[in-house]
Amino acid sequence: MRYVKLPAENFSTFFETLKQLGKIYGPVKHNSTYTFIQVDNVKELSLDYTRTILPPKKFFVKPRDELFKLKREKWEEVKDGESFVLFGVHSCDIHGLKILDKVYLRDPPDPYYKSRRENAFIVGISCMPDEYCFCKSLGTDFAMDGFDLFLHKLPDGWLVRVGSVKGHEVVWENQELFEEVTEEDLRHFKEFEEKRAKAFKRSLNKEGLADILDLAFNSQVWKKYAEKCLGCGNCTLVCPTCRCYEVCDNWIRAYEVVRERRYDSCFMPTHGLVAGGHNFRPTRLDRFRHRYYCKSYFDPSAGFNCVGCGRCDEFCPAKIEHVRVLEEVREELL
Ligand code: SF4
Ligand code: SF4
Repeated sequence: MRYVKLPAENFSTFFETLKQLGKIYGPVKHNSTYTFIQVDNVKELSLDYTRTILPPKKFFVKPRDELFKLKREKWEEVKDGESFVLFGVHSCDIHGLKILDKVYLRDPPDPYYKSRRENAFIVGISCMPDEYCFCKSLGTDFAMDGFDLFLHKLPDGWLVRVGSVKGHEVVWENQELFEEVTEEDLRHFKEFEEKRAKAFKRSLNKEGLADILDLAFNSQVWKKYAEKCLGCGNCTLVCPTCRCYEVCDNWIRAYEVVRERRYDSCFMPTHGLVAGGHNFRPTRLDRFRHRYYCKSYFDPSAGFNCVGCGRCDEFCPAKIEHVRVLEEVREELL
């Protein structure tokens, strides 16, 4: 991997340069929350953000996605092929996209997802954990790939890791903006990472979790929390690794239809409903427990479907804590 330095005084020129690659979307503050939206001026960015409500997943799997339009008895495919830049993506969200890749790019790949992934230029950014983050215990606190450039804060600029051919091209074409990395820069980078590693307040004990969940299917802990849970599905909608969707036809007028897919949630009673009226997960208990098995264990060979971003905790109206639930399941069993 190549490392270069972007001095602070070149930052806004660097940002302007990226506009050649397409529209830039970055984290912007709205009251007390953050969201990825189109950014024209570097001053609009909130680079020290904690987490956005919806993860960058929304650019690849959209909350509502038009697939086809029926007009005058003919179906027309809706395509969006524009290149774009996602600026300031945290390491956990980069890992979230890598988990989605395993699903959406597996043969046969999803054409919408694939083309958006190919059209995206991803600029990662270093962050400090808050009280909800537990990415370190899942190994998703540092991304080694899955980005084009990754910016690490230095006292006088940014240490830039170059992670792809496209990233190399941007650095190559704008060489005047970058400098060689010095020993002092590397020391600052190391100090930042050490400080960050010590700042985590939450961690998930993964040891033996697959076996524990195998044995704890009838745990009273699921029941206790299922009674507290409102079944709103917020935790699945904000999760960077949840990928369930439904496809439906929306009638605009008598002969005009839009076929769209939109986020679905395993917390919805209809999610497990199949033809014939059978429901695989008829109770809230079934649905609540299912989500934990999906995130931690559903397919042990595929690894965890959780990157420890803390969104499900921050945006749960019932204040249910993901790590706490799994800890209680473990405690009850041991
Ligand atoms: S389960 Fe919660 S912490 Fe894990 S990736 Fe999803 S939203 Fe983030
Ligand atoms: S966000 Fe909280 S209350 Fe809503 S479904 Fe998820 S666990 Fe239940």
